[in-house]
Amino acid sequence: MATPSIPRWKRIVFKPSGEALAGASGQGLDGETLDATAREIVAVREMGVDVIVVVGGGNFWRGRQGAMAGMDATQSDHIGMLGTVMNSLALQDALERAGQITRVQTAIEMPRIAEPYIRRRAMRHLEKGRVVIFAAGTGNPFFTTDTAAALRGAEIGAQIVLKATKVDGVYSADPKLEPTATRYSKISFDNAISQNLGIMDATAFALCRDQKLPIKVFSIFKHGALKRVVMGEDEGTLVYA
Ligand code: UDP
Repeated sequence: MATPSIPRWKRIVFKPSGEALAGASGQGLDGETLDATAREIVAVREMGVDVIVVVGGGNFWRGRQGAMAGMDATQSDHIGMLGTVMNSLALQDALERAGQITRVQTAIEMPRIAEPYIRRRAMRHLEKGRVVIFAAGTGNPFFTTDTAAALRGAEIGAQIVLKATKVDGVYSADPKLEPTATRYSKISFDNAISQNLGIMDATAFALCRDQKLPIKVFSIFKHGALKRVVMGEDEGTLVYA
């Protein structure tokens, strides 16, 4: 049977973790990984899908690292948010080298580098076929980029949050500790909560659940995975309301 060519989702939030842009080392940025990620995004743009990207920052800094070492927690989160700006600029560069016009909007203003976050302007960019990257998370400490993805997704009317990580979905147990653990192809928000599955941090998860914004968790390291997800294929795990 021919593969259906109509995307399952028309407007998506793509949320790669910082580590997903870092390549094998998990630290800093890797040119090839950035280029591969850009190609994955371009492939879904070519299907006419509106793409919002919210990039993580864990390849540079996670707020709790600093807080655990005695740093002021807010200060440490500010460092974390700046890390997401570096990732966003690097991904913008890779996307534009791949021929995809892109705008970065930051939740903390830095107008010499990028636009500030303006919802209506972001929506206009999407209408024009541009990829919009939201940097600096929510702009507030004590949150994560998963929450930023859920928030911006709800604000801009995305149909799903696609969370790209190192693992290829949600498992019944940690597959590293429990070899018999199985991947869920889909699971409801309620079942994920009752089974205590840590899919996203609690704030992000609650926002998606309240807004009935489904989440798909999948591995960014599988070639073509983003396109398969957008086509609604059985890739990763769908969390649904
Ligand atoms: N961060 C923040 N507020 C936000 C988003 C991110 O303070 O709204 C900071 C926080 O310190 C976090 C870091 O930025 O640890 C990197 O983001 P995240 O941990 O979500 O990145 P990922 O794990 O996806 O790479």
